[in-house]
Amino acid sequence: MRSLILSDLHANWEALEAVVKRAAGRFDRVLCLGDLVGYGADPNRVTAWVRANAAAVVRGNHDRACSGMDDLSWFNPIARAAAEWTQGALNPENLAYLRALPRGPADAGGLTLAHGSPVDEDEYVATVEEASLLEGHLPAPRCFFGHTHLQGAFEYRRGRVVRPHFALRQPARLARDSWYLVNPGSAGQPRDGDWRAAYAIYDDAEDLLTYERTEYDVARAQRKIVEAGLPEILAFRLETGE
Ligand code: ZN
Repeated sequence: MRSLILSDLHANWEALEAVVKRAAGRFDRVLCLGDLVGYGADPNRVTAWVRANAAAVVRGNHDRACSGMDDLSWFNPIARAAAEWTQGALNPENLAYLRALPRGPADAGGLTLAHGSPVDEDEYVATVEEASLLEGHLPAPRCFFGHTHLQGAFEYRRGRVVRPHFALRQPARLARDSWYLVNPGSAGQPRDGDWRAAYAIYDDAEDLLTYERTEYDVARAQRKIVEAGLPEILAFRLETGE
């Protein structure tokens, strides 16, 4: 089974549309690691697409915040403004869907899906040190996570944690004896210095992982954010990928 793995879509329809087009014909199912909404101007379109197309989804912190499940006081002012705008924009079906999303970790046919880490849905795993703390706590040898908006992986190999390098668009065979924590990156708001929408394709039969990026109509996504009255920094940051 080939899975298209998406995370941190953040209501960016133009990015999602470009990813799906680019990956067309190369996946059998869609797995989503949360943060469907928040920041971007198309929460209904993106949520409806995930509702219709994803085989499994876990919730992200923005999905909770934007559907009224969280106290927004711990959010920074920009994220809070976006969450409040999104709450007002979501239609009742999408709001109900976001509220009902399961907390990770979730199992998807032997793969683990998480938003933050497999231990805590709100935990950021960005460094080898942070990943090392999860040794012995991964539910399965192939775990996928998001939340940091950084495309990259951690490999647990013989008691050591390393960061394997996977070249873009080149299927890489994972080491049979290693465990992996894989972040496909953010489709809707990359923060690793590359503005292109990030995603991954994983073929579990072959144990092949492919990291990809695709260009999308960033100017259109930006225009919609500004026209919606969302904080302009949310439009600006899409083109820097930071
Ligand atoms: Zn996010």
